[in-house]
Amino acid sequence: MHIFYHPDYDIPVPDTHRFVGSKFSDLFHYLQVQPFANQLEVHQPTPASTERLQRAHASYYINKVTQDQLSPMDLRQINLPWSKRLRQRSFLAIEGTYMTAKQALQSGIACHVGGGTHHAHRDHGLGFCVFNDLAYTAKNLIAEGHVEKVLILDLDVHQGDGTIDICQDDPQIFTCSIHSESNFPFEKKQGWMDIGLPAGTKDETYLDILSQTLQSIGRSLTPDLVLFDAGIDVYLEDGLGNLELSIEGIRKRDRLVLEYYRGKNIPVATVIGGGYSKDTQELAHRHGLIFESAIHYL
Ligand SMILES: [Zn+2]
Repeated sequence: MHIFYHPDYDIPVPDTHRFVGSKFSDLFHYLQVQPFANQLEVHQPTPASTERLQRAHASYYINKVTQDQLSPMDLRQINLPWSKRLRQRSFLAIEGTYMTAKQALQSGIACHVGGGTHHAHRDHGLGFCVFNDLAYTAKNLIAEGHVEKVLILDLDVHQGDGTIDICQDDPQIFTCSIHSESNFPFEKKQGWMDIGLPAGTKDETYLDILSQTLQSIGRSLTPDLVLFDAGIDVYLEDGLGNLELSIEGIRKRDRLVLEYYRGKNIPVATVIGGGYSKDTQELAHRHGLIFESAIHYL
């Protein structure tokens, strides 16, 4: 299975910060010692170009990022300490999702050891997200003629408001989000399909709703590609999310999605999305679930 990763993905943040800056390398190293490690073929992304970034983001915002000229307000919204590494990795990680998706078009499934920066809007960053990899990927694949219709299936506990901001007027991109109604962002946007769940929603209810949602999508849309944000902040002990899925529930969630689209021969590219815990090994284990499931369905 093809996976995409760059050793510069980690973000320098203080230990007291909610965001675990080492989670990308933690996950990569975790994957290297799993029984399926020898089935993984690792690829490294190159940085995104400004020209292609403009398909998803406003030029003046890209310029501010490129020139380290984000305002205090911009930085407050992103809520990560600014650094040269954060700037550079922002260009790498969106291209990583793009390359993952392009690979999925060839091999059916591919997984990104990163991605899911779904709060980044067209002209500003937000909530730990500088650029929006999902919108960037969908916009570029469509512009280059690789696909006609993309489904962005966002199962992170938070609504992908930035993805909706960038993609809502695009007739070829379909966003579906299942999220906690009472988690960030507190003002939800209206995408193609949005399902807000009450805090405390557990496995059985969640999986029922997901299953119905996949059926409902299937009645009106056959996408050429699914970008699957497999955020694990739906976990019951997550540091930010207030839904209550178990590890087994997350595994079933991922397998429901993969089985459904693999059954229809529709390619799926996965991104890791959000996940918050001070126990870095636990976090790597939770983010590793999607890779284990993806191999299962490859
Ligand atoms: Zn999240």
